[in-house]
Amino acid sequence: MRCTECGEQLLAERAALGYDYCTSPVCQKKRYRGPKVTAIGVNKSADVFLVADDAEIVRRGEAGEFGKKNTSLGIDYRGAVATAPPPAAPRPIHPPALPTARRRPWSRQQEKVVRLYHDMGCNPKQILERAAVNNPRLGITAALIKDILATPERRSR
Ligand SMILES: [Zn+2]
Repeated sequence: MRCTECGEQLLAERAALGYDYCTSPVCQKKRYRGPKVTAIGVNKSADVFLVADDAEIVRRGEAGEFGKKNTSLGIDYRGAVATAPPPAAPRPIHPPALPTARRRPWSRQQEKVVRLYHDMGCNPKQILERAAVNNPRLGITAALIKDILATPERRSR
């Protein structure tokens, strides 16, 4: 069987599919009618579905629109251009951030004492003095008092 457009020998499997024209761009352009849906694999996104004819898809592919891996798109291509799946998201190196309350670099007990004295009307210096006398093992420092009082009170659970 030969192409009805250019007379070239038609591939047997193409003839078997019911085509009477070959795969050359010229004959495709003359004979192909109607849009078709082609899935184009686009890196880092879901497949993009195009409604376009073969020639347009090839033209757009060659223009680089679909990225390098799709430039080999054949003129007679049918079906999805699914290539390698997108790379998996990199695993986080650090564990997920802890809830705010647990990110505070002081203990619950330290905060409790500082806030208690603060609520009693002590200024930071007085808090430091009281803590040193009454709660020496908590290791409360002036910097810690400043940090605790500058931070919103953590909510009890
Ligand atoms: Zn032909």
